[in-house]
Amino acid sequence: MWKWLILVFLQLSVFDCAVKNNNNRSLGNRNLGDNGSTCKAKYWTLVKYFDGFPKNTDMTIREENLPPLKNEEFLAKAVFLSVDPYQRVVGSFPDQVKLGEPFLGQQIAQIVETKNPKYPVGKYIRAPFGWRSLTISNGKSSDQDLTGAPAILPDYGNLPVSLGLGVLGMTGMTAYFGLLEICKPKTGETIVVSGAAGAVGNLVGQIAKIKGLTVIGIAGSDEKGKWLKEELGFDQFINYKKDNIDEKLKKVAPQGVDCYFDNVGGEISSSVLYQMNDFGRVAVCGSISAYNSPVKLKVTIVQPAILFKQLKVEGFDNLRWADRFPEAVKQYLQWIREGKIKYQETVTVGFENTFKAFLGMLKGENRGKAVVKV
Ligand code: NAP
Repeated sequence: MWKWLILVFLQLSVFDCAVKNNNNRSLGNRNLGDNGSTCKAKYWTLVKYFDGFPKNTDMTIREENLPPLKNEEFLAKAVFLSVDPYQRVVGSFPDQVKLGEPFLGQQIAQIVETKNPKYPVGKYIRAPFGWRSLTISNGKSSDQDLTGAPAILPDYGNLPVSLGLGVLGMTGMTAYFGLLEICKPKTGETIVVSGAAGAVGNLVGQIAKIKGLTVIGIAGSDEKGKWLKEELGFDQFINYKKDNIDEKLKKVAPQGVDCYFDNVGGEISSSVLYQMNDFGRVAVCGSISAYNSPVKLKVTIVQPAILFKQLKVEGFDNLRWADRFPEAVKQYLQWIREGKIKYQETVTVGFENTFKAFLGMLKGENRGKAVVKV
């Protein structure tokens, strides 16, 4: 009994605004104004810019009191936080994020109080509020937002709202447009996907299968390879931590590689580029192999492969296709309903475990999209 009571207390104390559906304007009981008590938000902040692999001491949790809402504002309570590789990159740069300020990132939040009719209580939003528990917003985007203004999530039916950070969010958009618009895959071709068991990579492979390609995934453990082949239908797998990539790729793709979806960069990518067919296409999505390196990595020169095979190599930012995101969401929802796309999340529970989840994702502990359930 006592254990149960302590648990309930801990749960409520995460948010000083106890959440209950008490009227149609507010899901919160903030007691603002009358006795001077305010709502407390927690947020993760950098203590020190990342240098090399992030250290436990680089970030901490702080608290702040939130004022009463002004007209046009709403209060949103985080439900899921996103942990993403780009946060490792921006966390090294003072012009991207300031020490002591809330760390940036996307979250799914529920509106718990509002003075803005465009953001009604109860609705879920995807918002660039960072790793914070509670946020007051007027719905407008700021110059520092890398991921767009707060947006009300479309109705996902019985699917979890966390998918708004994964297959139905930035991750899914990156896989969909990067593959279809840059690799321009054709039935019968062969594609290699690095970072294949991660959030973007597993979707790229699944879409490529739908489009009739032979799909070869590269990732960091045999367990991931088993999952990719047995559950997601990848044709071949290379464990970059164990296999000789040049030799294994020759063996599993004797026909050569037509498309390469590159999530990791570095030596893995140099190897793949040298086994591409004439006029192959390379979508450069990310280079996570270098994000944690304290020095600039040196890798095998790739220009001869690009030149002699007449490859098309193009980097991209998913936001290039922001006006077409609804098209991709509609398509994903259909593929999910038809069982053609399986979504996978690695869910860490607890706001206080967000940084741990982030480090785990960088180390490869995730399968599919890494999210934190607040
Ligand atoms: P993710 O793949 O879910 O997570 C990162 C994965 O990277 C880990 O699970 C780990 O898997 C792998 N990894 C870590 N260190 C590595 C290394 N040294 N060499 C090779 N693999 C390593 O992350 P994501 O969100 O899907 O992002 C994947 C890539 O896409 C990242 O480079 C990211 O920056 C990029 N991205 C780009 C855009 C865009 O618009 N261009 C948007 C989103 C993401 P293993 O177990 O396989 O090592």
